[in-house]
Amino acid sequence: MSAEEEYDVLVIGSGMGGGAMAARLSDHGLRVVCLEQGYWFDSGKDYAHGLNTWELEKLRGWSYNPNDRQLPEDYPIGGRIKPHLYNAVGGSTNAYGGHWPRYKPVDFRKGTEHGLEGTIDWPISYEDLAPFYDINDAEMGVSGVPGDPAYPPRPGAPRDPTTRPGKLGLKLSRGFDALGWHWWPSDNAIITTGREGRLPCNECGACLSGCPRGSLGGVHVAYWPRALRNGVDLRTGARVEKIDVEKGRATGAVYIDIATGQRHRVKARMVVVAASGIGTPRLLLMSSQRGFPDGLANGNGLVGRHLMHHSYANCDVWFDEPIEGYKGSFGAPFYSQEFYDTDPANPFVNGFTMQVGRSYGAAFTATGSHTREPIAWGPGHRRRFDEDFGNQLLVYVLAEDLPVASNRVLLDDSITDSSGLPGVRVEFQAHRNDIDLTNYGVSRLEEVAAAAGASRVRSTGAQDLQPGWHLMGTARMGNTPEDSTTNKWNQTWEVPNLFVVDGSSLTTGAAVNPTPTIGALAVRAAEYIAQNGGAITAQTVTPANADAPELDHRKVITHV
Ligand SMILES: Cc1cc2nc3c(=O)[nH]c(=O)nc-3n(C[C@H](O)[C@H](O)[C@H](O)COP(=O)(O)OP(=O)(O)OC[C@H]3O[C@@H](n4cnc5c(N)ncnc54)[C@H](O)[C@@H]3O)c2cc1C
Repeated sequence: MSAEEEYDVLVIGSGMGGGAMAARLSDHGLRVVCLEQGYWFDSGKDYAHGLNTWELEKLRGWSYNPNDRQLPEDYPIGGRIKPHLYNAVGGSTNAYGGHWPRYKPVDFRKGTEHGLEGTIDWPISYEDLAPFYDINDAEMGVSGVPGDPAYPPRPGAPRDPTTRPGKLGLKLSRGFDALGWHWWPSDNAIITTGREGRLPCNECGACLSGCPRGSLGGVHVAYWPRALRNGVDLRTGARVEKIDVEKGRATGAVYIDIATGQRHRVKARMVVVAASGIGTPRLLLMSSQRGFPDGLANGNGLVGRHLMHHSYANCDVWFDEPIEGYKGSFGAPFYSQEFYDTDPANPFVNGFTMQVGRSYGAAFTATGSHTREPIAWGPGHRRRFDEDFGNQLLVYVLAEDLPVASNRVLLDDSITDSSGLPGVRVEFQAHRNDIDLTNYGVSRLEEVAAAAGASRVRSTGAQDLQPGWHLMGTARMGNTPEDSTTNKWNQTWEVPNLFVVDGSSLTTGAAVNPTPTIGALAVRAAEYIAQNGGAITAQTVTPANADAPELDHRKVITHV
């Protein structure tokens, strides 16, 4: 094992949390090393985007599920989840939808609102995070239409002109108008005007197969070029096995070079874990050592618990006329938050967003569209195909799921990655509240589809074994060392110079996609570390949240 110089900050993982953290810290002149178990994708060559078989690759080598891909840099995830994530520079933003909604003020107060199961209030408010949403949005590049009445005003968040809603968006929006329900063009992390090194979206629609133009705001195109110019030492194929702790302080980590199997040690004054809602609890649990017998920062046993990944129902909606469902960027043309808030008249809490999306191409239609019911081969196939293709759109009913303590990520020695390290097992049981809420959402979608004149709706309904697009809550931020893993600065209660900055730190899941919030939290935590690094490294005992220095907003870097 080779020993080396000491960095200011070690960041583990290069996705939304890690990439934003590394870039922003290096803007402040800190010496940063980032260990990423995956590699760079060559956007021109590697992405399935350019292949004739791009739609079918979603089910094979470009499956969102690492258990299907089984690349050396992936790790096995067993149990009750269909995990969706990428292990690569830029993490899971390599080939994603880019839907970019923020949390709303109410989302930070769900403990007070209902407190069901393990629900607690966030230790911060929407207003605390708003300036950092603005900064992260500017970094990633966001298109949309300002003025959505469902949100507080956002004067500090300029947007590119929105992606075009297309025939399908206009068609369904008439149903919302007829019922008087809220709808608004979505924010998407998709640029519609060019910027350095990135071309504007050409609306080809294959976002989820990776974007070779750089229009889709992946962290690898939005943050990493600058981070590298700033001198961040990004090491790929570097799988962290264990975070080192000495005398109560993190001192670095041991990683395995996936290609050679050799172990190396990196030393740093501060460590940031940004390995995703599954990768982070895995690493903290693998880092058990003297003083931390049950895993790092896990004295209260909460690491891995409260897993949320949203309660989802996919709904295919057909019309009797062509609506060019396959055309345009995948990012949602619009969404409705008519049913976002808890309605006391319902026998369940929380709410949902209806997110309107597109279908893909011919192969995807033939193999079952978003509800995965293939058009049977043989007589009648062609007729059914003609009825389905181009006449269809997608609506996700995306419902908030409760943070249930028994929904959790555990280490599993019986399944190992290519370096011989344990995989994980997920225990997950959808809560009755979330199933009822989601099925209620499907009924509302059927209502609005009928109002728009749709001929057919097919829905997955609320599934018990759901797709894990959004991995959240497994090292959550909270108010006391008893109720959470980190304080309001993403700083672990137990190890003061260890931070968790990724999906696992989200206290509740809200009813929106999580990545803008992960990025905003990362920017905020980076500013905190940059301004308070000396004080943080001097702390040797559990940090007292109340004594933690506040951010000086005058010092926050706002230019990008
Ligand atoms: C197909 C798909 C579509 C999606 N669509 C949307 C969308 O439209 N909108 C939205 O908001 N979100 C979407 N998401 C979710 C979004 O991608 C994630 O919320 C976001 O990337 C999570 O950020 P993160 O920092 O938590 O983790 P990631 O971005 O996943 O980054 C974690 C990184 O850590 C690395 N890592 C893990 N363990 C180790 C280790 N031991 N050593 C070294 N490195 C390690 C991983 O390789 C990975 O690169 C989508 C996801 C997928 C897969």
